Formats: sequence, C-alpha cells, structure tokens
Amino acid sequence: MSSAYGAGCAVSNGSINHQAQLPTETVSADEPKLTAQWARVRGRLQTEVGDAEYRAWLRHVALVGIDGDEVTMRLPTRFLRDWVRSHYGERLNDLWRAEDDRIRRVDIRVGAGAPPARAAIPEAETPELATQDLPVREMPARAAPARVEERAEVRSDAALDQRFSFDSFVVGKPNEFAHACARRVADHPASQGFNPLFLYGGVGLGKTHLMHAIAWDLMSPSRPGGAISVAYMSAEKFMYKFIAAIRSQSTMEFKEQHRSVDVLMIDDLQFLIGKDATQEEFFHTFNALVDAGKQIVVSADKSPSDLSGLEDRVRTRLGCGMVADLHATTFELRISILEAKAARTGVPISGKVIEYLAHKITSNIRELEGALNRLVAHANLFGRAITLETTQEVLHDILKAHDRRVTIEEIQRKVAEHWNIRLTDMSSARRARAVARPRQVAMYLAKQLTSRSLPEIGRKFGNRDHTTVMHAVQRISSLMASDVGFAEDVELLRRMLEG
Ligand code: ADP
Ligand code: MG
Repeated sequence: MSSAYGAGCAVSNGSINHQAQLPTETVSADEPKLTAQWARVRGRLQTEVGDAEYRAWLRHVALVGIDGDEVTMRLPTRFLRDWVRSHYGERLNDLWRAEDDRIRRVDIRVGAGAPPARAAIPEAETPELATQDLPVREMPARAAPARVEERAEVRSDAALDQRFSFDSFVVGKPNEFAHACARRVADHPASQGFNPLFLYGGVGLGKTHLMHAIAWDLMSPSRPGGAISVAYMSAEKFMYKFIAAIRSQSTMEFKEQHRSVDVLMIDDLQFLIGKDATQEEFFHTFNALVDAGKQIVVSADKSPSDLSGLEDRVRTRLGCGMVADLHATTFELRISILEAKAARTGVPISGKVIEYLAHKITSNIRELEGALNRLVAHANLFGRAITLETTQEVLHDILKAHDRRVTIEEIQRKVAEHWNIRLTDMSSARRARAVARPRQVAMYLAKQLTSRSLPEIGRKFGNRDHTTVMHAVQRISSLMASDVGFAEDVELLRRMLEG
C-alpha cells in the first residue's frame, strides 16, 4: 500500500470540487502507437515475472484502450481479473506510466471477446465523485459498490485497499466487539464514548481491514449526510511527513492539513514509541481534532496501558474513548473466513480441506489467507482440483512451520487447568474420579499429539506402567464415542494444544 507520492495519507471530501482533468483523448487498442506500447508493457512484465507465471495469469490480459488518463484492459473471468489486479496491478500501473506519464489509472474489467474499444469504456469520475484538491494526497472517492464490481480500478495512489470493506469482514466471537465499534464510528463519527476509537490486537487479525472499512464508509457519497473528509495513514507515515515538514520548514502546513479533516486515522501507533517529537505533534493534533468534535481512530498492537514508552498524557487520552481488541482467531472464525474467501475465488474447495486449513494454520488471518491464495493459484495453474493431498503438498513449507511440537508437560498443564485440578495430580497416586479422568484425558492426548511411546508417556505421569496408558487411551476413546459433551471437551483441548 505504499504510495507513489510517499505521503501515505488519504483525504477525501464530500464537497464538490472538480479535479483538474486532462483533456479527454480516446485511443483505441488498434492504434499502432498504443499497440507498440502495450507490447512493451507486456514484454517487460513477462521478463520480470518469468514465463510460467506470465502464461498462468497475464497471457489473457487484453488491452481495450486509453481514455484520457485511464488505460482499460480486460480479462475473461472475475477470478483472473481479481488476481491480476491484486498481484500485478501496481506493476502494470508503473509500466504504463513509464510508457506514458499522463496515465493515472489502470482499469481492469471482466469481459470476453473483443468489444469495440470506445463504447465499452465507462464515463470518467462523475463530478460528485471527484475528490477535494487538498494538499494532502488525494483519496479517490469510493464508487458505489455496484460500480466497484463493474470496474475494479487499480490506482497506484490508492492508500486504502478496496478489498477491506465491512462487506468482506467476517464477524465472529474474537472480533465482534471491535467490529461493532467500527460500525458505530462509521455510522456516527465522533459520537460520545467512541472517540477516540482505539483498536488493538496482534498482527494479521484485521485492524487495518476495519480501519479501511470505516474510511470507505465515511467517504462514500451515498452515505446519509454525504461523504466526509478522512485522513488515514500509518504512524510511520505520519512521522515521515512530520520530519519532512520540519526539514522543509512547512510545519504550519502539516498542522493545518491534519487538523482540517473530519476523521483522522492512524494505523500501527506503536511505531511512534520512542519518537518523542512526533508523539508530541500527534498529541497536539489529537487534542485539536477532539476539541473540534472530530473523530480519531487509532490502531496498535497493544492496549494503551500496555504500550510502554508512550507518554502518559498520550496514553490517557487514547484510552478515554472506546478501546476494543481483536482477539486471536478461533477455529470457528477461521472456518467462516476460509469459507467466505473460498467462495469469492470461485474455485471449489471441499469442507474437508477448509477444516484442515483451519486446524493447521492458526497464527493469524493473513497467513490463512496466504495459504488459501496459494492453493487457489496452484489449482488454477495446473487445472487440478484441490484435495487434501494437494493441499499438503502445496503448503508443505507453511504447514511445517506451523507443526508445533506439543509437549506432554503442556498437555498436562492445559488439561489440569481445564478441569481445575492441580498439576501435581497428573503424576500423583490419587484415584478419585475427579482427578483420574482428567489424567486419562491427558494420557490420551499425549498419545494423539506427540510421538512418545506408551512407556515414555507412562513415565511422565508418575512412573505409571505402559498398560495403564493403554487402558487410559481405550477408556477415553470409548467415552468419547458414547458421550458427545465429553468428546467436545476433549476436542476443544486438542485444538487449543494444537493451536
Ligand atoms: P492487521 O492490520 O491487524 O495486522 P489486517 O487488517 O491487515 O491485519 O488483516 C490481515 C488480512 O486478513 C487482510 O487481508 C484482511 O483482509 C484479512 N482479514 C482480517 N480479519 C478479517 C475478517 N474478519 N474477515 C475477513 N478477512 C479478514
Ligand atoms: Mg495492519
């Protein structure tokens, strides 16, 4: 999401303000000059990505034409279009610009055959959708959803990811609170109790996605009350811009820019730790905006109170609105996310494979998504169905990294915690059912989840005989078969240990 302008900040305004437009000039795909340019763009791309990748993804890209500052290309399927857009969009943009520096946008549409170049090109931005010409880098106003479907644009200057919308955000237990807060801010910015909104959580759990979703909603012209101006940037960009402003003696401009928006969003605030001058500036900006009744949204990897190194006054102000965390994913959420994402790819993926992935890739949603994308790419490349075997083969390296070795000690600890017994009872001689049953579960799980032999397991449970372990394994298996509730308990423990 790096920007061609280095500012990394998105500003949009609902007020009508015509952007300086280039004189519209339409060039159809069969014009010799354009044909030559297109051949060069393709050639460069092929050299860069290699033959196999080019054949798999890029061979089908066809040029429609150039309209003013916009190049339009097309691909036969939505899947291919989305793939090319997300993986080669920026590069295509750069290559086209290298050919013609007036080009500002690259549009890839879905379409078969060769439609007449001109007729198919939609109108350029309507005046209502034009963005305000603020000194901060402009954010193209969001097209209505239907329009996004029809003409997915690739803009090298897009600071916000089009895919990160509320629609594509899958809600589950671990993120429902954060999601509800984000929705609330998107619907009623700067409302009491939700300002600032502080979202926190580990990497890849959806902080940036939610922030972009809020921004898209606020900038939507179809929003009740009209679009409002939003500045979104990472804390690093904020710092970078601030330092640049000091160097160029334009700090007043910097201040004005950031204090003139309706909503300021700073992503990954933890990067401001230890940057005292920038923190100071952020603090003043923050206060000025809140005092003026504007909304602030901040994300970080930790809660305000755990962000050590943050000045106390900043911490206090950050915590005085709504603080919402994104928890680690659960098995259920991973399943829902995989199902939603798989449905979007249009490639059939069986429930078995989805369950397998949700089981194995537990770190975060980004990795889960990465694994799924790789599978889909593979399936498309080789035209093969996705089976459990191909999944294991294709994701070999990812799965290996996740194949954490569970230790018997860990199993004992988790099981003891679960049934609220003492850890020492795992190896004690006590035979009361309340203690003996969990101990058997721990032995069963040790057999299932580790490669230890029965005698080895027995030794770890107070030097018990291997026949005792064998008996435990059989007993728990048959109990699980007859008691659904108990089986769920054991499965839950297994998942927690494998995660
Ligand atoms: P973070 O900013 O917390 O590190 P991101 O917001 O960048 O994480 O999310 C990582 C990836 O996972 C993104 O591609 C995002 O779209 C996806 N993702 C995260 N949470 C969800 C969710 N609840 N539903 C769908 N996709 C999600
Ligand atoms: Mg992020």
